[in-house]
Amino acid sequence: MEMLTIGAFAKASRLSPKALRLYDELELLRPARVDPHTGYRYYAAGQLERARLVAWLRRLGMPLASIREVCALDPAAAAREVRSYWARIEAETAVRRDLAAFLVDHLTAESRKDTTMLELRYCAHSDTGRVRPANQDTAYAGTRLLAVADGFGAAGAPASNAAVAALKPLESAELTAGGVLNVLEDAVHEAARAVRDVADGSEEIGTTLTALLWTGSRLALVHIGDSRAYLLRDGALFRITHDHTVVQSMVDEGRLTLEEAVTHPQRALLLRALSGGAPALPDLKLHDARPGDRYLLCSDGLSGVVPEERIELLLAAAPAPDEAVRTLVDEANAAGGPDNVSCVVADVVDPAT
Ligand code: MG
Repeated sequence: MEMLTIGAFAKASRLSPKALRLYDELELLRPARVDPHTGYRYYAAGQLERARLVAWLRRLGMPLASIREVCALDPAAAAREVRSYWARIEAETAVRRDLAAFLVDHLTAESRKDTTMLELRYCAHSDTGRVRPANQDTAYAGTRLLAVADGFGAAGAPASNAAVAALKPLESAELTAGGVLNVLEDAVHEAARAVRDVADGSEEIGTTLTALLWTGSRLALVHIGDSRAYLLRDGALFRITHDHTVVQSMVDEGRLTLEEAVTHPQRALLLRALSGGAPALPDLKLHDARPGDRYLLCSDGLSGVVPEERIELLLAAAPAPDEAVRTLVDEANAAGGPDNVSCVVADVVDPAT
C-alpha cells in the first residue's frame, strides 16, 4: 500500500496538516498508520477521495457533525443529504433576505416621499364548493386588509374566522411606514393566540393564513400554510408565497418533481400552520405596489384544481375584481369543486387618474 506523509497528503487533498490533525481527533478522517515511536501520521492514497469530500463539504460550510454523517453514506445517499442540507440553507437565507428587505425599507422610510397615494378596489368571496358539507374557509377584503384563511379539523371554521378577525383591527390601526412591521407582527401574534384558543391544545385544529396589509404605496404580506398570493403585473402572473407543505419541501430538496407534487396523495399535508400545536409564525414580506397591479389571494380549493395558466388567463380577462372572483370560483366548481374555495382580488388604482 502506498503511504503518504501528512505533508504530501495535505498537499494532495488541499487540507492543511492542522486540519488533518483536527479531523483525526474528531474521527472524521483517521490516518492509515501512526508511527508508534515518532507519532507521525501516514495516509493511504486510497483515503484521498474521502479527504477531498471533507474539504469540499467544509468549503460548503457544512458543520463537522453533518460531514461525519455524509461521509458514512454511500455516494447516492450522500448526494441526497448534501442536496437537502443546501435546501435548508437556502430556506434560512430566504427568511433572512426578507428580514433584511424589511429593515432596509424601515431605515429608508423617512427619506422616501410617497408622492402618490394609491387605492385598492377589491372583492372577496368564499364558496363551500360541490363536495364538502360545510365551509371552513374565511375570506375578507377591506380598504386596507385582504385575507384568506383555510381552516382544518373539527373546529376549522372558527379557527379560520378567529385568525382573520384578529387581523381586522389593522383596518383602523395607526400605520406609519416604518412601523408596519411591528404593527403587523403584533396582529399576527394575536391571530396565533386566537387560533390556539379555538384549537384548545389540538394540533389537528388550525388554519392557514395569507393576508396583505395596504399602506398606501406598499403591501405587507403575512403568510403561513398553503393558501396563496399571486400578483398579476403587466399581464404576467407571479406567485409571491411559498407553500408550507411537506410536498413543497420535498420539491425544494429535490426529492420530488413538480409534476409528482401535483398528484402526491399527501400534497395537502401542512408543514406550518396556525394551530393548537407547536407555535409557528408566518413569513412576513413587503411588496411595492404599482397602479395596474392585480392581487389574488386564494385557498387551495382554487389552486389545487385550476392550473396556474388558467388562473392567469381568467384573472387577466376580468374587467374588475368582482368579475374575477366570480369566474375563478365558478372555474373551481366546474372542475368538481372538491374543496371550499375562497378568492380575494384587489386592484391597485391611482384615484387621481
Ligand atoms: Mg382547502
